[in-house]
Amino acid sequence: MTPPPSGAAVARDLFALVERLYPLCRSLSGAGVRRTLELLRELIPLELHEVPSGTRLFDWTVPDEWNIREAWIADADGRRIVDFGESNLHVMGYSTPVDGEYDLAALRKHLHVAEQHPGWIPYRTSYFQPDWGFCLSRRASDALEPGRYAVRIDSSLAPGAMTYGELLLPGRRSEEFLVTTHICHPSLCDDNLSGIAVASFLARALGERPRRFSYRFLFVPALIGPLAWLARNQARLSGVWGGVSLTCLGNRGVLTYKRSLQGDGVVDRGFQRVLERRGQGEVSVPFGPGGADERQFNAPGFRIPFGALTRGRHGDLAEHHTSADDMTFISGAQLADALDACLGVISVLEEEPRFIVRAPPGEPQLSRRGIYRAVGGGGGPEQGEAVAAMLWILALSDGRWSLPEIADRSGLPLRGVQEMSEVLVRQELLERL
Ligand code: ZN
Repeated sequence: MTPPPSGAAVARDLFALVERLYPLCRSLSGAGVRRTLELLRELIPLELHEVPSGTRLFDWTVPDEWNIREAWIADADGRRIVDFGESNLHVMGYSTPVDGEYDLAALRKHLHVAEQHPGWIPYRTSYFQPDWGFCLSRRASDALEPGRYAVRIDSSLAPGAMTYGELLLPGRRSEEFLVTTHICHPSLCDDNLSGIAVASFLARALGERPRRFSYRFLFVPALIGPLAWLARNQARLSGVWGGVSLTCLGNRGVLTYKRSLQGDGVVDRGFQRVLERRGQGEVSVPFGPGGADERQFNAPGFRIPFGALTRGRHGDLAEHHTSADDMTFISGAQLADALDACLGVISVLEEEPRFIVRAPPGEPQLSRRGIYRAVGGGGGPEQGEAVAAMLWILALSDGRWSLPEIADRSGLPLRGVQEMSEVLVRQELLERL
């Protein structure tokens, strides 16, 4: 067997993947998304799905497919002062085609700048309202002289499809966990090429090991991407035990895990314990309605306990959604460190002992099994603890709680909980997952 790659090699490879995907013009749909997924298929066997424009997804409808070839603004001398060829952020995502001349006042209605940061190009989209626009630095915008400008956006908005990628890694058991990341941002590194890179490497690592649970990776456009998957997979949602969305993992901040609405799902507990154990000042924060893919999975009607792993809190970093979220804003070491935390949670899910009560639903009838005699002794504090351990195990063992988690939750020593699990297995009341 080849030895596992060193941390430095993983960091380098993660960074190289981001670098390779960086130039592509991704959006909610179109060639840049397909090309991104094609490149990822060199790493992991993603299945590609095409959701036709016009498809109803609950309260939403898949918009037309957007593709763009070139876009620029030229001054009276024919000098290109804004050019999509230099940065794909220069064009508002989903801009309708334009070919005309505008005076500065009329043009300004279609220009977007980052007011607070004169050197940065902001990132803007208009998926659901037909519009066109250019994004440029405030400095460049301030320098525009009154006069006539030639404007061209060679784009198309036409019936086509929205593309997403999916990879199921089946385990011995059908219960599954989801890992999602969005793929709709153009040349932006932390948000969200970092999530794409970490999710891809996590999928590859998981694909190479035996698995107790099943894992499904989704590479989807934000918001309606998760809804597309949810709409197409309603029959299997009861087997989804939770998930996590991976975004913004390459910046300098500490890892922050946003808990699901429910707050103590399997994935919530896994991340909270792993981040605590790592002891790097990383935090878990309560659910809030902002954020990424977790919004859909936690929403009414689904209520799948779904968390989000980021660095820093969503919306805290000014660089996000601007040209400052470039290759210098992230580091391979931070990406590798986020991957390491995710792999730690996988170890919790896969390796910690978990059991299922064999007499569900409801509580098993203990007296008829002579169970109190079996748990030992003639009363006293030790037996009290043993009985408490037994009741906690029986109360929590639906497979979602590992023995260390049951010990934590009950405040009982892990060893006693372990011993009692063995007694209950011998009594055929408990089955190892
Ligand atoms: Zn974003």
